Amino acid sequence: MTKPTKGPGKARHPATTILHSGRDPAGQHGFVNAPAYRGSTVLFPTLDALEAYDQQPFKYGRHGTPTTAALEDAISKLEGGQRTLLTASGYQAVTTAILAFVKAGDHVLMVDSVYQPTRRFCDSLLARLGVTTTYYDPLVGTGVADLIQPNTRVVFTESPGSLTFEMQDIGAIAKAARARDATVIMDNTWATGLYFRPLEHGVDVSINACTKYIVGHADAMLGAITANARTTKQVEEARATLGGCPGSEETYLGLRGMRTLAVRLERHQRSALEVARWLAARPEVERILHPAMPSDPGHALWKAQYTGASGLFSIILKPTPRKAVAAMLDGLELFGMGYSWGGFESLIVPFNPTRYRTATQWTAKGPALRLHIGLDDVGDLIADLEAGFARLTTSA
Ligand SMILES: *Cc1c(COP(=O)(O)O)cnc(C)c1O
Repeated sequence: MTKPTKGPGKARHPATTILHSGRDPAGQHGFVNAPAYRGSTVLFPTLDALEAYDQQPFKYGRHGTPTTAALEDAISKLEGGQRTLLTASGYQAVTTAILAFVKAGDHVLMVDSVYQPTRRFCDSLLARLGVTTTYYDPLVGTGVADLIQPNTRVVFTESPGSLTFEMQDIGAIAKAARARDATVIMDNTWATGLYFRPLEHGVDVSINACTKYIVGHADAMLGAITANARTTKQVEEARATLGGCPGSEETYLGLRGMRTLAVRLERHQRSALEVARWLAARPEVERILHPAMPSDPGHALWKAQYTGASGLFSIILKPTPRKAVAAMLDGLELFGMGYSWGGFESLIVPFNPTRYRTATQWTAKGPALRLHIGLDDVGDLIADLEAGFARLTTSA
């Protein structure tokens, strides 16, 4: 672990902490940033040291370098966890975290609004290993207690839900799960530890797809698993056994992204709310799915639990033919169409949850679109969407 630069233990605003954590200028010839260590072999100075393998902080590249330790330390501080383990992608953080706690015969409770690849993992490899999964309604709240079986080892949450933005009552779910000795895992990618700290709400393990906001520039794949004291050993063991490790460049980009996370999220949040309010008044729009909007059914939960909102939300359009949606999207000049999000750029993608949800029903009649509001000038973004609606209307 790298030393915090200054004032360990002092209560400071997270926006300050993320500038100072995971840095040790005094140990790096005064340079402000940790270098990107590239390494596989780590040398041991003596036979005694080699035989006392575990005594040396860095042993082999796969287990981490000073660069990975720096970012792990910074994310642990951001999330309020005991230990963070980096992985090569957010998805690998999800699979590693689940595998850390299950064996054949066990059962997983998985939120129905989860990131789709997480669902595919449960239905394919996890099922093949003899672990069963039950999907539950994201709005279940304390009702999750009724779904916990004697062999339920993991209750997995993601809030707000991928694509559809349902807010989960994390505190209530974690309390019910803990009472039955299940491990609570949360995918915290949307908020990051800056706007929500899952471990303070009873969650054991928090996951970040750092690919999104922590890296923040759409130029690297990276994941992080943050564990509390109760679960650190299991997560460490799973990550080491499964062998997932990020590249040095990606890790460096994660550290670099941390320094501007607070200012970027502030801007994403402000612009996304402005665009959402504008969209809410449009005649083409049926509904906005954004928990920080007072009209959202999850607003009270968001307000009670979160300190901010990021730049990702969805809308449901009034029923309109596919060709009208294509005319709108194909002509957008500032919004790109593509997966992932959390970078500086604005994105838009259509989605349709009816194809894979099992515990809940998607009843929207019109097409749904997910927007990521980037760092562009918000007036320019609104103008781009306005021109898009004009194309939609003339093509309908
Ligand atoms: C993107 C995403 C992931 C996966 O992260 P990758 O780095 O793309 O593998 C996991 N969870 C959520 C909520 C995501 O949006």
